[in-house]
Amino acid sequence: MNCRHCHTPLKHVFLDLGFAPPSNAYLTQVDLCAPEVYFPLKLYVCDACWLVQTEDYARADELFRNDYAYFSSTSSSWLDHAARYSAMIIERLSLDENSFVIEIASNDGYLLKNFVAADIPCLGIEPTAGTAAVASAQGIPVVQEFFGENLALQLATEGKQADLIIGNNVYAHVPDISNFTAGLKAVLKPGGTITLEFPHLLRLIERNQFDTVYHEHFSYLSLCAVDRVFQKSGLKIWDVEQLPTHGGSLRVHGCHIENPRCERPGVDKLLREEEERGLKNLVIYQIFQPRADKVKDDLLSFLLEQKRSGKTVAAYGAAAKGNTLLNYAGVKPDLLPYVCDAAPSKQGKFMPGSHIPILPLAALAERKPDLVLILPWNIADEIMRQLEYIKYWGCKFITAVPELSIRSPEHPYELKRV
Ligand SMILES: [Zn+2]
Repeated sequence: MNCRHCHTPLKHVFLDLGFAPPSNAYLTQVDLCAPEVYFPLKLYVCDACWLVQTEDYARADELFRNDYAYFSSTSSSWLDHAARYSAMIIERLSLDENSFVIEIASNDGYLLKNFVAADIPCLGIEPTAGTAAVASAQGIPVVQEFFGENLALQLATEGKQADLIIGNNVYAHVPDISNFTAGLKAVLKPGGTITLEFPHLLRLIERNQFDTVYHEHFSYLSLCAVDRVFQKSGLKIWDVEQLPTHGGSLRVHGCHIENPRCERPGVDKLLREEEERGLKNLVIYQIFQPRADKVKDDLLSFLLEQKRSGKTVAAYGAAAKGNTLLNYAGVKPDLLPYVCDAAPSKQGKFMPGSHIPILPLAALAERKPDLVLILPWNIADEIMRQLEYIKYWGCKFITAVPELSIRSPEHPYELKRV
């Protein structure tokens, strides 16, 4: 296999998580009687452009099925994040009723509704039918397609070039990053801005976030890799922000390379930091697997210990990262009998691979487990606040990443070793 960006042959494995089903392929009762398809889950690093990427195995449209269960609006902290971003960017770029905004992967309209409310014309691009329908119902125009250079050229021909293109948690999810970036170039007005948010590879490595690896997540991005992809497409990054979302993300601000905007010192500073931390050297990529294995081993021994001592453990949050963790660790309902989730679209279904049932929140109060394993550790503080009542029966929260820890709502950021 060659690098998806620079086509150099890939020789170096960064992480091998064995085989797993697509992490968003939640199963119904009927699906449980049918065979389940597993794909290899292996990441390579390109030693020419430092793009970390999944092994090639399947087409994107087989993974993003129409019943894709993730609706962005179910997380209140993500909605707040979207509202804050919208207010900031509308002011920073002086957007008004004469501007045009495109959001790629607009999901259920969780973000563009802020632009609609400010009377700024916008367009969402979203391939999954269920979420696109929710956005349309809120008055947000949506093109139900995958974004790439072809769609971008078509929109540009129709006079729909944008002053602002937004891509939140989509850049890492596109199979062909070069084609996607060429699309950004094609649909951007001459003086326009692109902002992309994606999890930062440096934080993934530092914080053992191997559970953010799944098939739909094709690229694991450092600023140095994105900088290179942008430049190859005739774009440049003129600012970068570091965000706490998804365990540590970057928001890059890009424009056409011909735009006279100067590169900001923040970009150079972070590029230097990445180089100092070793992101342009193979060693850091080669020592990651044992660290991921330790997280898996610790969780598994802990769950076995609880089972032997007669304690019950439930999980909260049927998130993609939970599926990666549970499938890599080989956890099944005997060790973790159920997962609670607030999204009605997931309730009554089963986690792919592990076949752990997904129940509504009320199951916690009914069954009173001894421990709740929070799978989406990135929103652990929000979850602990919502579920604070579990302490009335002596139940405790735990998280497995970056290391197995007991968590408390009073000190949400403190990790206490188990
Ligand atoms: Zn490469």
